[in-house]
Amino acid sequence: KNKLDRVKARIDAIPDFPKPGILFRDIFPVLSDHGAFSDLIDLMTSHVKSLSVDVVIGLDARGFLLGPIIAQNLQLPFVPIRKKGKLPGKTIQVEYKLEYGSDIFELQVDSVKEGQRIVIVDDLLATGGTMSAACQLVTKANATTVECLVVIELKDLDGRSKVPSKVHSLVEY
Ligand code: IMP
Repeated sequence: KNKLDRVKARIDAIPDFPKPGILFRDIFPVLSDHGAFSDLIDLMTSHVKSLSVDVVIGLDARGFLLGPIIAQNLQLPFVPIRKKGKLPGKTIQVEYKLEYGSDIFELQVDSVKEGQRIVIVDDLLATGGTMSAACQLVTKANATTVECLVVIELKDLDGRSKVPSKVHSLVEY
């Protein structure tokens, strides 16, 4: 089996979580299998290497499990985007809509410099609202989102049409 097959074999599908009617895709079983996790990090690292970016951004919270390892492998800086109130110091913010209400994403001022090339990493793309907000923050920081990289893409929701930058996914459902 190849690396991607070993990753896919460890992605779980949990019906009716967190709400009835939702089929939740879970990457934690990948992380609990050191071989599959290593395969996933290899795939993501070699892909990011080909983008020649300056910074790896990870999204709160599961983007924090993947982004820093990729950044370390490539000797690049890792920068977090977090939900409101978690990052100290001056931040820039963007508000984004959720199914019910809205939330705010933050990026520390000066963590990303003008003109830098960015890859944004998360576990999963659903409606694209989260990734779209992250792209808006990078734009606010006067940097360029070269690519949005996710492990899983839920194709039926067509989230990528909402995201202003290129989207790359490893596994599609
Ligand atoms: P979106 O904003 O609708 O694209 O949702 C993507 C965000 O919600 C990501 O940060 C995901 O971690 C999370 N998410 C949505 N659906 C799932 C799922 O089935 N499994 C794991 N995370 C999910």
